[in-house]
Amino acid sequence: MLQKNSIYPIEIEDIGHSGEGIGRIEGFTVFVEGGIPGDQVRVKIKSLKKNYGEGRIIQMIKPSKDRINPICHLANTCGGCQIMHMDYSAQLDIKKKRVEQILERIGKINTTIHPTLGMENPYEYRNKAQFPVGMIKGKAILGFYKKGSHDIVDTNYCHIQSPINKDVVKTMREYIEKYKITVYDEKTRKGLIRHVVTKVGFATGEVMVVIITNGKDLPLKNQLIEMLQKNVKGLKSIVQNINDKSTNVIFGRETITLYGEDKIVDYIGDLKFHISAQSFFQVNPIQTKVLYEKALEYAELTGKENVFDIYCGIGTISLFLAQRAKKVIGVEVIETAIRDAEENADINNLDNTEFYVGKAEEVIPQLYAKGMKGDVVVVDPPRKGCDEKVLETIVTMKPERVVYVSCNPATLARDLAYLEEKGYKTVEVQPVDMFPHTAHVETVAKLSKI
Ligand code: SAH
Repeated sequence: MLQKNSIYPIEIEDIGHSGEGIGRIEGFTVFVEGGIPGDQVRVKIKSLKKNYGEGRIIQMIKPSKDRINPICHLANTCGGCQIMHMDYSAQLDIKKKRVEQILERIGKINTTIHPTLGMENPYEYRNKAQFPVGMIKGKAILGFYKKGSHDIVDTNYCHIQSPINKDVVKTMREYIEKYKITVYDEKTRKGLIRHVVTKVGFATGEVMVVIITNGKDLPLKNQLIEMLQKNVKGLKSIVQNINDKSTNVIFGRETITLYGEDKIVDYIGDLKFHISAQSFFQVNPIQTKVLYEKALEYAELTGKENVFDIYCGIGTISLFLAQRAKKVIGVEVIETAIRDAEENADINNLDNTEFYVGKAEEVIPQLYAKGMKGDVVVVDPPRKGCDEKVLETIVTMKPERVVYVSCNPATLARDLAYLEEKGYKTVEVQPVDMFPHTAHVETVAKLSKI
């Protein structure tokens, strides 16, 4: 029986969904933050629950062969990257293994799982950064939240972000310090600048800076605009967003354009997208192309098919599919996302798309009742997976193929098991690394009607 506060040797065998190491002591599962498979360590047991415990590394006996010095000196403090201390190819292997194990264990799915598609350069891949702003002794601090807290780790540079961010951060620091601009304090709810958000079009080089303020009046606005113009290459848009609520949500209701356009442009493949301050856009455009091209390949379109894109968001997959399908019908619960999807279809001159706002579990059965059917169905649900009503309607409409894009292998496994029980076979599965150095894994699965 394990004892709390006692020290044990352990070998880390696996990584959990938040990037924590997992090993066993006397057959009992222990989670070890910072441990990676192959590490032999000594841990002190911090807590014990019925089925598992948590241990803290107090001594490294023998490091894993996959352990590396992370490129970022803040990797252990900042909450952003959980497995940056693991060699990149080992990260890709462990992600494949996780998908494999979960599909087998939860879904009893027996299929081909390909090696994870990774990035050639797994750094500087994010197109959106959010910097909380604080102040210590008259010095502005901008950076990222510490693991599990709201303390800001001060930094000019993040290795997974576009390098343009350091120019934005430096300029904002300079503006705040030079003109003694106040920054927001979560406790007193006083002070002006709350967050700085940047968005970058990777294909176009266009940059948007969003300044989130607690109140409307932004002093010395013109000086700020001039400074950003001078220092930030590709600057196309400066936007102020006002959030005077006591909340962890970054954006408030009102948005004002201070300079340039209210949106920037980016491309994924040949498709053009408008990105505004608050619109959703995939954060890794390079891997989005890889993932959605795989989805398109799995859909095996000839140009004659009617396709459903369920949980379509701003229609990124829908537009990919529309280039090769007769018609694409997208369904999504957020109204502004559907407006973006329609606008994106429009600017790409794709007139074979139709979008519906509503809960998929309500809209899909209604559309089917009206006689609409998909020859191919693509789903890209949130972490909780597909609603059973959606799956039920899919199997009743009997499409030739179902392409399942998933950000959570556990719900993917559950839903594949449902579809396999009702006449579909999982032909192949492709994990894609959308977020290098984090524990996330995205997966696309191809199912065919038996
Ligand atoms: N492929 C999309 C992203 C999908 S993310 C894109 O590229 O934009 C999952 C989407 O499902 C989110 O946009 C979310 O708003 C939507 N969603 C969540 N619950 C839903 C429901 N019950 N019905 C329809 N859409 C839902």
